[in-house]
Amino acid sequence: MQTNLADFIRDTDKGREADSILRSCVHCGFCTATCPTYQLLGDELDGPRGRIYLIKSVLEGETATEKTQLHLDRCLTCRACETTCPSGVVYHRLLDIGREVVDEQVGRPPQQRLIRRLLTAVLPRRRLFTALVRTGQLFRPLTPGRLKTRIPPRQDHLDRPYHQRQRRVVMPEGCVQPGISPATNAAAARVLDALGIGVAATPADGCCGALRFHLGAQEAAERDMRRNIDAWWPAIEDGAEAVVSTASGCGSHIVEYGKLLAGDTRYRERAAKIADLTVDISELLVREEKTLTAKLRQANITAESRGRVAFQSPCTLQHGLGITGAVERLLRAAGYDTLPVPDSHLCCGSAGTYSILQPALSRQLRSNKLKALTSGDPDIIATANIGCQTHLQTESTLPVIHWIELIDRALADPGYRIDTEHPELSQTA
Ligand code: SF4
Ligand code: SF4
Repeated sequence: MQTNLADFIRDTDKGREADSILRSCVHCGFCTATCPTYQLLGDELDGPRGRIYLIKSVLEGETATEKTQLHLDRCLTCRACETTCPSGVVYHRLLDIGREVVDEQVGRPPQQRLIRRLLTAVLPRRRLFTALVRTGQLFRPLTPGRLKTRIPPRQDHLDRPYHQRQRRVVMPEGCVQPGISPATNAAAARVLDALGIGVAATPADGCCGALRFHLGAQEAAERDMRRNIDAWWPAIEDGAEAVVSTASGCGSHIVEYGKLLAGDTRYRERAAKIADLTVDISELLVREEKTLTAKLRQANITAESRGRVAFQSPCTLQHGLGITGAVERLLRAAGYDTLPVPDSHLCCGSAGTYSILQPALSRQLRSNKLKALTSGDPDIIATANIGCQTHLQTESTLPVIHWIELIDRALADPGYRIDTEHPELSQTA
């Protein structure tokens, strides 16, 4: 695609990056067919090719309007379009640049600004968010129906091993996960311990920066990233072999630290090193598959199925990190049946804060996703990202958990089966 970027951006780093991305697009439209918002709304401007066209026009000097902003706001940043693009167009980076320019030109009404400020102020603050969740849990029994589903029940089975291990990793705690699902990292630490891998303590880390970054608070997002680099670096210098993420939304952001902090001379080398070391926990377990399988074989003494699992592969896992099939394989090795899920490439509608900012589209996508996930009559739904877990759980009649909890159960208990009457894992602890 030919470009002629306007003076205000042409000779900037972002302008050069956007120009190169725009030039790689051949306008074929293959991406449109797999775009969830195009499928729902049927408007070319609510698909990737249309959004690329809108961003190109603005970067070439056309004035952005509220309509331009709306079409960009409706994008989930799910990156399904990148997976189907034959030309390797890095759409999400173009969208980041386009959104920043459009927001500067168009601005936002006071109500939208307030909601966005609240989201950037509360969600990334782990202690504050956890305190709010705990308060909600205290009043949960008294809360009426629909509101109750929005408050996650308190989890148990949170014990973690504290063995000194020669092999160690960093495991980011994140921001909302410790409040909503502390069982995830506890289970991950136990599984890693069974493989002889310890988790280095990095108590000063926090939100990976994705939440603020995607809400247009770039400077605050960069502060989040620098704080994490400072928190993790001593452990990395001390020999930690990987940064292991249990939330694919965070993992897919941390692997971009090197690019996002490339202009920061103090942090860029450490940011790039951390990005290189970052893996989703499924990638690490696949690397350790031989040891894991041997331990699972010892644990699965009866060789009967432990239960039927529908795995929801988050967009950040399959499109962002490019991981497909690994979790299902690990679950099968642990003795579970994994069920086929139709349209598994489509987003569940969570997409960071999308469920709050675009509630109608988000609800529609969730309803479609739950229909697909339950079509094979599973006992439980597993996922790999806290955002999807929370979003799906709000409407799901089945428990939605991180898949690592199922591996943990299988390792810990040879006879473990998902209890179809009471499938919540915490009740079987
Ligand atoms: S982004 Fe890729 S698939 Fe979509 S129109 Fe451009 S080249 Fe084609
Ligand atoms: S990121 Fe997702 S919603 Fe956005 S254009 Fe691409 S496929 Fe569509």
